[in-house]
Amino acid sequence: MAQDHDIVIIGAGPAGLTAGLYAARARRRTILLERNVTGGQIALTSLVENYPGFPDGVNGFDLAQAMQQQAEKYGMEMGYGEVTAIQPKDGRHLVKTTEGDYLAKSVIITGGADYNRLGVPGEERLTGRGVSYCATCDAAFFKDQVVAVVGGGDAAMDEGLFVTRYASKVYVIHRRDQLRASKILQERAFANPKMEFVWNTVVTEVLGEDAVTGLRLRNVVTGGESTLPVAAIFIFIGLHPNSDYLKGLLRMDEGGHIYVSDWMDTEAPGIFAAGDIRVNSSRQVVSAAGDGATAAIKADHYITDTFKG
Ligand SMILES: Cc1cc2nc3c(=O)[nH]c(=O)nc-3n(C[C@H](O)[C@H](O)[C@H](O)COP(=O)(O)OP(=O)(O)OC[C@H]3O[C@@H](n4cnc5c(N)ncnc54)[C@H](O)[C@@H]3O)c2cc1C
Repeated sequence: MAQDHDIVIIGAGPAGLTAGLYAARARRRTILLERNVTGGQIALTSLVENYPGFPDGVNGFDLAQAMQQQAEKYGMEMGYGEVTAIQPKDGRHLVKTTEGDYLAKSVIITGGADYNRLGVPGEERLTGRGVSYCATCDAAFFKDQVVAVVGGGDAAMDEGLFVTRYASKVYVIHRRDQLRASKILQERAFANPKMEFVWNTVVTEVLGEDAVTGLRLRNVVTGGESTLPVAAIFIFIGLHPNSDYLKGLLRMDEGGHIYVSDWMDTEAPGIFAAGDIRVNSSRQVVSAAGDGATAAIKADHYITDTFKG
């Protein structure tokens, strides 16, 4: 028997936690479903310096815990399990999870995105200790140090150029002998004296005990191996939104980001999407939180209008 709620939120990152706060304060019976740990991507980072209100920065995990406590204070429930499908049922939505089903008047999807990983030894262990997937977030920690960027697309060039504002030198490691990035970004990157390109090369291991100290590299043409001492590695080899289970239900771009209106409505009435999972997200904690608030306010109005209460 499915549990009955006004609003079911999928994913406990900053967008979902903020949506939960707003939905609970609107006195809607609200549950936030999470398949992993509270915080989403932000749980990975030790210091968030660009979330307003924390002049000395805040630990990402602690920030997420505080967001959860704040929402629970107003009555938001937490539930655990992976959402596998959303199906229409009697004018409502049946949210199916690995741990049971939930019936909702409205659903807010805040499943975020996972960065593509290299999948090499040392990468997971040193994430947040020199392995980063977000230059805007972490570049400032490596002022005047030598770092590496991996990737050859727009994100790698854009973020790599951002890293040069802080680092003394940025090696760009790319598995091919030319970039995929747009011409204008390529021109800027090639003109930047801090950037040095390492072509036809892949990272085979991230080195270091408590922090990144270097990379093991392999040239894909010659097969030659080498070691590159760096203090950080910024990885930009794509991002995949956690939206696979929604294909066929909602309209998405080719990368799997969900199209929404300014009020976070998807094309399915009563279903909203917010944060990194939507198209054109700026992929920051503060914008994800803002999206979550917008979606919850709109979901509250939708329930009032549709269910007359
Ligand atoms: C290492 C790192 C450092 C960062 N540092 C900063 C920073 O300093 N400042 C900043 O502003 N931004 C930073 N970012 C970016 C920021 O974390 C994201 O923009 C933000 O977390 C997006 O929030 P979200 O709620 O949309 O999604 P996410 O944070 O991705 O959360 C989504 C959640 O949904 C869950 N989920 C997904 N699918 C399902 C499902 N089917 N069922 C149940 N649960 C599901 C996931 O497990 C996850 O917990 C950083 C990102 C990374 C990776």
